[in-house]
Amino acid sequence: MKAMKAYTIQFAGLTNKIHYLEFEIDTLFFKHFESSPIKQADIFVHLTFDKRPGMFVLDFNIDGEVIGECDRCLNKIHIPLRAQHRILIKFNDELAEKPQADPDIMYLSTKEHSINIQQLIYEYIVLSMPIKKICENSLIGNTECNKSMLKAMKRDIKQEAIDPRWEQLKKLK
Ligand SMILES: [Zn+2]
Repeated sequence: MKAMKAYTIQFAGLTNKIHYLEFEIDTLFFKHFESSPIKQADIFVHLTFDKRPGMFVLDFNIDGEVIGECDRCLNKIHIPLRAQHRILIKFNDELAEKPQADPDIMYLSTKEHSINIQQLIYEYIVLSMPIKKICENSLIGNTECNKSMLKAMKRDIKQEAIDPRWEQLKKLK
């Protein structure tokens, strides 16, 4: 992943108060993540960045949609996404070096002046995805599965289920 500048917050220059930031996350954003399960999206992330002495509270508000394929029939569907995630940023040189054990707390080195939130946004969006992406959950367009596609897929599965080795054995009888 190459860090995108747009997602770096230079907190050293910010005053201690709540700051409101907004990020528009689209298809291009996900191209930076090779194994992304999301390819196409239109999402707004509203971030409340509460800068307190020695600690920050970040609240991510995710609102938008992901465009993908139905898990069942491969129809193109629009999956609504709405979620909130909170993370605390604390400063500790020792803990910043170690793997972060708690997903709700991130430790930064006391020498840091900025934080890149690109990875966080990515993970929060992926986490917000429904387990099943199906037509019924689509915002617009198809709200029912493509029946002819389902039939065709069933046929394929049946054909695959017949093991060719059994066919050979049958012939020997
Ligand atoms: Zn479907």
